[in-house]
Amino acid sequence: MRANLIDGKAIAESLREEVKKSVDERVAKGLPAPGLATVIIGDNPASKVYVRMKHKACQEVGILSIGHELPADTPQEEAEALVKKLNDDPKVNGILVQLPLPAGLDEERVLNTISLQKDVDGFHPVNIGRLAQKGREPLFIPCTPAGVMYLLEQGGAELQGANAVVLGRSNIVGMPVSLLLVSANATVTICHSRTKDIPGLIRQADVLVAAVGIPEYVRGDWIKPGATVIDVGVNRIEDETRKSGYRLVGDVNFDEAAEVAGAITPVPGGVGPMTIAMLLRNTLRAARLADGNDVA
Ligand code: NAP
Repeated sequence: MRANLIDGKAIAESLREEVKKSVDERVAKGLPAPGLATVIIGDNPASKVYVRMKHKACQEVGILSIGHELPADTPQEEAEALVKKLNDDPKVNGILVQLPLPAGLDEERVLNTISLQKDVDGFHPVNIGRLAQKGREPLFIPCTPAGVMYLLEQGGAELQGANAVVLGRSNIVGMPVSLLLVSANATVTICHSRTKDIPGLIRQADVLVAAVGIPEYVRGDWIKPGATVIDVGVNRIEDETRKSGYRLVGDVNFDEAAEVAGAITPVPGGVGPMTIAMLLRNTLRAARLADGNDVA
């Protein structure tokens, strides 16, 4: 392997320690511990696993976490009423509505109800809109895209003037990452399912962020020598040698790409751990905002 490994697990761990230290300092000064409220609507098992992981991570750094679960047939008004109640609760600094919502609920209206100052997931339409405007700053940046940018910084990628390719244009990963890269003065090409000659575009990329959800889609000979590769993909593939019967791979063929890239994230252990670390960071920031301190 020629590329430097960007170790998301270790980087996320040190971020969590920083958050814990700041939370401890707050509490020692007599300030309340930051509070995160999570809302799950319906019975999506993956949502329950993610939210459980978020609560555990909060506990480890001293953030108070409060879980709310509503049934799948919750009416729109009731979902919005819960969010409004959390907006008014001073113990709650951050509100996370776990997506996707069950069919029949208007996701945008629910997200729009979250107070901007408590939008620690960064999906409020105003926060996303500010990301898309030159010279405007969102209060919170969505956690996975923020994690991608942090890993690029830690991996030493020069973004100014760089050619960046983002594979995928989803609301939660591809599009916000693209906007953040533009803000960092990269020249960004966004690829999606209708894009022609994706290998040719990637061959010109100094920075590649892959978020398509197709196992090992990007091949080693598509990578520009020395490029920085951030692999957001998390895909299960069958593996009879594992007890579980499967293993996780990214959207990039790691073994091939690692021979060509300058720096690369692994899967697992790359972007994945960063998402929760960024959520903890955003929740701490929300608590500071509530104190009247706008410290990033
Ligand atoms: P998504 O909503 O399914 O979006 C996939 C994107 O890839 C779409 O923009 C789609 O294009 C594009 N695409 C699909 N097939 C393509 C092809 N053959 N060629 C080029 N583009 C193609 O996925 P997502 O939610 O962004 O997630 C992407 C991956 O990241 C998944 O593996 C997911 O598990 C992972 N993920 C990881 C984390 C984390 O680590 N914390 C968080 C979120 C997601 P169209 O827009 O044209 O359909």
